[in-house]
Amino acid sequence: MFFLVIFASLFLFQAAVCEEDETEFALNYLSNFGYTSHGRSGSNDAISAIKKFQEFFGLPVTGRLDERTLKEMRKPRCGVKDLVVGKNSMRVKRYSTWWTKWRKTSLKYYMTYGDDMSESKQARIIAKAFKMWSDAAPKLRFTRTFRVSEADIKVSFGRREHYGVPGEGKCYDPFDGKSGIFGGGLVLAHAFFPENGRLHFDDDEKFTEEGSIWGAKSLIHVAVHEIGHILGLRHSNVKGSVMWPTASRGTPKLHDDDIKGIRSLYGMLEQHLTPNHLGFLSPGED
Ligand SMILES: [Zn+2]
Ligand SMILES: [Zn+2]
Repeated sequence: MFFLVIFASLFLFQAAVCEEDETEFALNYLSNFGYTSHGRSGSNDAISAIKKFQEFFGLPVTGRLDERTLKEMRKPRCGVKDLVVGKNSMRVKRYSTWWTKWRKTSLKYYMTYGDDMSESKQARIIAKAFKMWSDAAPKLRFTRTFRVSEADIKVSFGRREHYGVPGEGKCYDPFDGKSGIFGGGLVLAHAFFPENGRLHFDDDEKFTEEGSIWGAKSLIHVAVHEIGHILGLRHSNVKGSVMWPTASRGTPKLHDDDIKGIRSLYGMLEQHLTPNHLGFLSPGED
């Protein structure tokens, strides 16, 4: 009996500790990814932040940290915030853009390498990722440069407190270590918005070209997603889009939502435009 009591109290103690850990984890998550407003606290704010998260991710909006909500929060993801004060509309499910875009459409990128694959393979993957966006918005043109000084876009790999390409200062947003099913970091990469051009991969992660069920992350997927940010797209609440915040394995294909997003910023080539596209609608069309 005595042992039973000890066992039962240990169990309850464990459960309480777990719950506390989970609440702390969730509150950190909501603050890191833009769901709580700074300078405010209290349970009402926490509930409204949980609701916003559930709404963004298409979960039942309960305001409670249920298992589905926590499961979604534990998925490895991009470090860029999902919500930004004054620039969110979650009523519609669609892409979202930043306030700015590149004024020029011919952009040069410089890249350094991570530890996981040969340099030539990484260079090929990054080039392929850029091409997906220029195929969707053909005004965009990306060329690689080997001179940092002439680069618009700077792709680099770093760990924890990191810098970028040579000459770049310390990034204000340190990485959180390798992600894993038993905890650890969540963030795989982050990127800055136009016309900043910095794209940082977390080199504590294990990257392969397409990722694996054993936990390696898809460099091509993460690269296409982060380049979307570089070009001016924010996270989309359309599940299945490349700009959805969490990572997937395999080679991504731009979703209609991503294509609409990038074309809203950079359009199509002028010579592809027919009079209808220029706004001269035939009668009966809308
Ligand atoms: Zn992102
Ligand atoms: Zn960084």
